[in-house]
Amino acid sequence: MSDFGTVASIAADVASGRASARAILEQHLVRIDTREGEVHAFNLVMRERALESAAEIDDRVKRGDNPGRLAGVPVALKDNMCTRGVDTTCSSRILEGWKPPYDATAVKKLAAEGAVFIGKTNLDEFAMGSSTENSAFGPTRNPLDTSRVPGGSSGGSAAAVAAGFAAGSLGSDTGGSIRQPAALCGLVGVKPTYGLVSRYGLVAFASSLDQIGPFTHTVEDAAILTEVIAGHDPMDSTSIPQPAPDLVGVLGAGVKGLRIGRVADLPKGADPDVLARLDAAFDALAEAGATIVDVRLPSLSFALTAYYLIAPAEASSNLARYDGVRYGKRVAAGDINTMYADTRESGFGDEVKRRIMLGTYALSAGYYDAYYGKALKVRRLIADDFARAYADADVILTPTSPSVAFRFGSKTDDPLAMYLCDIFTIPTNLAGHPAMSVPFGTGQDGMPVGVQVLAPTLGEATMFRAAAELERAV
Ligand code: GLN
Repeated sequence: MSDFGTVASIAADVASGRASARAILEQHLVRIDTREGEVHAFNLVMRERALESAAEIDDRVKRGDNPGRLAGVPVALKDNMCTRGVDTTCSSRILEGWKPPYDATAVKKLAAEGAVFIGKTNLDEFAMGSSTENSAFGPTRNPLDTSRVPGGSSGGSAAAVAAGFAAGSLGSDTGGSIRQPAALCGLVGVKPTYGLVSRYGLVAFASSLDQIGPFTHTVEDAAILTEVIAGHDPMDSTSIPQPAPDLVGVLGAGVKGLRIGRVADLPKGADPDVLARLDAAFDALAEAGATIVDVRLPSLSFALTAYYLIAPAEASSNLARYDGVRYGKRVAAGDINTMYADTRESGFGDEVKRRIMLGTYALSAGYYDAYYGKALKVRRLIADDFARAYADADVILTPTSPSVAFRFGSKTDDPLAMYLCDIFTIPTNLAGHPAMSVPFGTGQDGMPVGVQVLAPTLGEATMFRAAAELERAV
């Protein structure tokens, strides 16, 4: 845990005047000066702007005004979230120099509660990847062992919190990009129900899957940040017309009487050290009074295939807008078609091009039904499987990632090996359900292992109850 305190403790200290937002910020900036060179969590450190916001918070406290639930809490933002007037690159050359004219809703909500934005974090280009090695600006290193990846695509957001550069951060999760890096860096990471958190101002990757969520050291901090960013937003047509749920209030409720699902036909692929921690998690919840029940999810083994058709299909459409006309980079050429082609050729990295080609192929006439249409049917089967499982279980536990953090370069030559990192996280995105990763001890080489808690649509409160119990047990 960060030696500078949690989201909850920092906000309480700043609001009560025990600490100034400025002093808290300076501690984090010193840590950044010491370690950012080796970690590379950030695309941009927003030093000046952060100092200004901290001063504003300290003024509010002095005047006796309410400084907000996140008073003076240093927060890092994944660099695919729009920040007004501040570079938002998606770690892609094609957006270099682009400054959005507006803030994402989640960003606005954090600011309204007194959060201090400390920087924009590195990611796999356009959030496509599981290791941050696909960033156009170089990889982020895992602060717990810099020879290893922090996971991805929100690797910078995870590393920033794990290294003590920020007390919390936001990431985005399309197929696991919050939960997997959280697991690999020993943090709590939450993917809320699709539609609980507004996607307005989140640069779109796969619009039917993308969700914003937090990284923190503690379950309580994750509950606070989720509460702050959740809630209806008329600017996002997929936003659920409901207020944010009460999550902090349920953390002490325990798991007595809860039915915890164990997936009897879990897809193979997880390492033994990870499965051992999962077993220990079931034992801990049973010890605390929960009942363990077996559930079956037979279509789970097709989730990865379906995702790698649906996500690229949506991405190929979403990324068509980067044409050298409206955003960032333009390569000058004699005619407009050459300008489009040259801009996209030099602006996108290999993985992004691979996804655009896969997606365009899957959507093309003659292949649409065989690939995209079929993938949508699998998506429906997965949702049906989950619906049956949740008739018997309140939450389900699985591993978050099949392995602990791996070493740089070990999967970069084989896209399929990289895609397999998401085998346990992708099904929930396809179903639209919430899921979160909770650190639960260590595996190989002392690296952290995350246990994933899954819940049905809007089951966040029960999910957080189980997560809080796991945290108490570990
Ligand atoms: N690793 C997955 C992918 O490459 C998930 C990414 C994400 O959740 N943004 O698509």
